[in-house]
Amino acid sequence: MIRLSAGDMAVIADAAEAAFPFECCGLLVGRGQRVIEVTRLVPAPNLLAGCAPDRFELDPRVRFATERALRGTAERLVGHWHSHPNGSPLPSPTDLEQAWEPEMIWLIAAVAPLPDGRPQTIQILAHRLDREGRRVRPVTIHQTDRSRSG
Ligand SMILES: [Zn+2]
Repeated sequence: MIRLSAGDMAVIADAAEAAFPFECCGLLVGRGQRVIEVTRLVPAPNLLAGCAPDRFELDPRVRFATERALRGTAERLVGHWHSHPNGSPLPSPTDLEQAWEPEMIWLIAAVAPLPDGRPQTIQILAHRLDREGRRVRPVTIHQTDRSRSG
């Protein structure tokens, strides 16, 4: 289970809609083992935005900088989020191919256009991906009221 604040959920939904028809992405920083509390979001450029509507490549410089900043603190990198402009909150075959780290949380925001064409985030789900076993395990999201901690 992960604990994620309503404010952070809204930030992800807004970013997913703003990036439509491309994918947005970012890092999840948190703490805890069995129950992971997401304490902070780190938005990151999608290096493939503008090139491919169905994949993302999180800027590795943001990841390195984030991990460096977290070294020696109580927080760590617990996962990442990205959006699916095709309306599916489930990992794509490409996602599974790129799932090198089985401990990472994959948060996926599904976006679909409203009848008037405006994009709307319709669902956010969390998963753990096991590339070797080609398995996707759902992770429950417990939404908390904690306001955004910045
Ligand atoms: Zn994906």
